[in-house]
Amino acid sequence: MARTVVVTGSTSGIGLGIARAFAAEGANLVINGFGPADEIEANRAALEAHGGKAIYHSADMTKPAEIADLIATAEQTFGAVDVLINNAGIQHVSPVEEFPIDKWDQIIAINLTSSFHTIRAAVPGMKARKAGRIINVASAHALVASPYKSAYVAAKHGILGLTKSVALELAEFGVTINAICPGYVLTPLVEKQIPDTAKARGISEEQVKTDVMLRLQATKEFVAIDEVAATAIFLASDAARQITGTSIAIDGGWTAQ
Ligand code: NAD
Repeated sequence: MARTVVVTGSTSGIGLGIARAFAAEGANLVINGFGPADEIEANRAALEAHGGKAIYHSADMTKPAEIADLIATAEQTFGAVDVLINNAGIQHVSPVEEFPIDKWDQIIAINLTSSFHTIRAAVPGMKARKAGRIINVASAHALVASPYKSAYVAAKHGILGLTKSVALELAEFGVTINAICPGYVLTPLVEKQIPDTAKARGISEEQVKTDVMLRLQATKEFVAIDEVAATAIFLASDAARQITGTSIAIDGGWTAQ
């Protein structure tokens, strides 16, 4: 039977890439995120090309009731959530003393707290079925820091703590939970922070790419969305059943330094 996969923040970038990878395996998908309605519908429809069904849910990851409804809708539509991918995320780049308070709250809500809400809603079904996979898209910034990203780094470090704690709770229920820690991937999230980083550091936008983003990425290459998606597919496979409570860095050697 086709598995059901919920991917938060999957109208763009890494989340959409992960949704496409699971769809290619015939999974049913629940996609989520913001964007133009016609674009979302085109992406949703394309996810059905391999035999699975795909629905879109508009839950705002800052709103606990909407997040609960996302998981409930997935369960009602497809009978279960087999794989939960917590991927929605935003970024804001600013010195800490100028960091807007509302941006801090929003980043913690979307990049950290929303995963608590999806997990608490999906876990009862997973425990009852004694099966489930939870994958948190964290970041190399869950392992190391960069300046001007205090909220993002705090949220991403937090998600690793959540991953470890929940792994211990679920270990005897056939449910695994892990984090993927990508380095820089050229998605809209990264493109958007280039001008602000250039401003904060007083350098050109090209220098942001070469001297900031790829400086520590030892391969000197951006990570590809497909490479992150392939790791999610592996973590959701039977071969990964003893992998839980850990993180996999896909960062071109960044955090080896
Ligand atoms: P992106 O901007 O392309 O996609 C972000 C997705 O989250 C979009 O679908 C957006 O609509 C959704 N989203 C934003 N706010 C939301 C909200 N309130 N409610 C619901 N959905 C919301 O970014 P991306 O680069 O694909 O990022 C995806 C994840 O990967 C994030 O958690 C990010 O921190 C992480 N990540 C990205 C990189 C990178 O270099 N791009 C590196 C490491 C980790």
